[in-house]
Parts: sequence; C-alpha cells; structure tokens
Amino acid sequence: MATTTDTTAWDATRLPDLTGRRALVTGANSGIGFTTADALARAGAHVVFAVRDVERGRTAAARVTGSTEVRRLDLADLVSVREFGEAWQDPIDLLINNAGVMMLPRQQTKDGFERQFGTNHLGHFALTNLLLPYVTGRVVTVSSDAHRWGDARIRFEDLNLTLGYTPRGAYAQSKLANLLFTLELQRRLTESGSPVRALAAHPGYAATNLQSHTGNRLVHLFLMIGNRFFAQDDRAGALPTLYAATQDLPGASYVGPNGFRERRGAPTLVGRSSAASDPVVARRLWTVSEDLTGVRFPSGAGLLRK
Ligand code: NAP
Repeated sequence: MATTTDTTAWDATRLPDLTGRRALVTGANSGIGFTTADALARAGAHVVFAVRDVERGRTAAARVTGSTEVRRLDLADLVSVREFGEAWQDPIDLLINNAGVMMLPRQQTKDGFERQFGTNHLGHFALTNLLLPYVTGRVVTVSSDAHRWGDARIRFEDLNLTLGYTPRGAYAQSKLANLLFTLELQRRLTESGSPVRALAAHPGYAATNLQSHTGNRLVHLFLMIGNRFFAQDDRAGALPTLYAATQDLPGASYVGPNGFRERRGAPTLVGRSSAASDPVVARRLWTVSEDLTGVRFPSGAGLLRK
C-alpha cells in the first residue's frame, strides 16, 4: 500500500494500482458505498457489491468500469449475514463496512434489535467476524461525526433504547459503536499476531440518500436544504474511506475530511471523542455483541482458511 503524507490534494486519482486485489463494499449500490466501489474498481480491484436489493445492486454495478459482482446481504437480518459469511470462499484484501441507516423512526431488525444499532453495528460486527479468516489487508468501517452527538455513550443497560428512543440518539450510539468496534478489533488483531489492520473513516457531510428515511417532514426538509447547500458530493465523501483503505496508516486510525468541522475537504487523520477511545468500553461492547449475534472473533484471524 502507498505512503502519503501530503493530504491537501489527495483524491481517487492517487489510489495505488489495485489490480489482482478483491474488495467487498457493503451498501455499494448507493451514495458513498457506490463511489467507493467505483473508485476501487477503476483502480483495478475486483469489487463485490454486498447489497440488500440485488436488482439495485446490479443496476449500480453496471454503471461501474471494471470487474464487479453482486451478492445479497441484509445487515438487518443475522440469518442473511450468516448465510453470506458461510458461503464466502475467497481472499478479501479490503473489507469496507460502509452500509448504514440514519435517524429512522423507531424500527427493529429481523432479530428484534433497534434498527440503527442492529444494522450499522451488529450486522457489520457479525459480518466482519465471519469473513475475518479470509481478510488479508484491511477492515475499514464507516463511522460519523455523529458519534459525538449529545455526548453519546453505549447504553449497555438499554441497548435497544426501549426506555428513551430518539432517532438522533440511536444513530449516535450506532456510529460510536463503529469506532469502538474498530478499536477492539485492532487490539484483537494485534494480540493474535495478524497483519490485518482495522481502521475507521467518516465522510464529513455528503449529499446521499442517507438523509431520506427520517419519516419526519420537517427534519427531512431541513436535511434536504443541508444536502443542497452545505454538503459535498458523494465522490468527495468516499475519499476518507479510500484513503483509510489504501494509505500507510497505523491500525485503529480514524480518517475524515480536513476542512472546517470535518464537514468537507481532503482526507486526513482526525480525532474522536473520549467515549470512542475507551478500551474498556470497547471490550465490553465486543463481548455483548458476541452474545447478541452469536458470532465470535475467529482464532487465527488474518490467516487464509484455504
Ligand atoms: P446511502 O446513500 O443511504 O447509502 C447507504 C447504503 O446502506 C445503501 O446502499 C443502503 O441500501 C445500505 N443499507 C441500508 N440498510 C442496509 C441493510 N439492512 N443491509 C445492507 N445494506 C443496507 O447513504 P451514505 O451517506 O452513502 O451512507 C454510507 C455510510 O456513510 C453510512 O454508514 C453512513 O452512516 C455514513 N455517513 C454518511 C454521512 C453523509 O453525510 N452522507 C455522514 C456521516 C457518515 P439501500 O439502497 O437498499 O437502502
């Protein structure tokens, strides 16, 4: 992977040659996932679109120049995640945990988890651990500046937020979980002697479909105005993910845009909240997530099974 210190003008044209590499991108049919998949394919990687709607995945993949395939994955259904993981056979250079939902009205996953935590964190937690024996390079998980919203913390006493649900609070908890997951995953990889690195990224503010599912007309209007006048485009939003996936960065790094309040700009290393840096909470979340999903950290992670 390339080494880059000058981030001021970093963009997808500076991706290294990825010919012969395989990347898997969750939520690749839309927004940042699509532009990430497109850039990786253009750089030569074979890109797997892991999507919940195969038809939409095929339509998106058909717009990409390069080698692609489409596979069904519903992160809000642990049966689907397990089927996906158990059918997997190939080495993966880059696992990009990108898919996400934001600020939904109260909803549940198939398994009865609060939907933002269940999709954004638990689905990716299970997927990553199932695929880890095949991963040779990086796991990049897409978080958000929302991990700081309202002094977010992991509500271990009420993870499904049954006692006090707010769409914002649930999104913040799920995105905080993405960062804690990365922290503990890297610790486990290091401890097991694996060369695989876990990193996190956030896109700043990018105009995508993410803001379309709030179910609240006023919030929707507010977000659409934001999209129109303040957001960067989805190509710029993918740059922190691409940078985390390909540049020579230490494990557990967090990459975001370098502009005002990390809303836009070129990718660079960024800070995180103290709640997202707590190794004790990260370990506890890991153990709880193993119990909730029934999926555990594999022994010999980073070593190919076949
Ligand atoms: P997007 O255009 O809505 O894309 C989200 C993707 O996730 C879509 O492909 C969606 O599939 C997929 N997805 C949702 N639920 C899924 C499930 N149960 N199983 C599998 N895939 C599922 O939004 P985006 O902005 O590109 O979001 C990408 C990531 O960036 C998310 O993790 C988000 O939290 C993060 N992020 C975005 C922003 C921003 O400003 N846009 C800011 C911070 C962080 P469908 O098309 O089928 O719904």
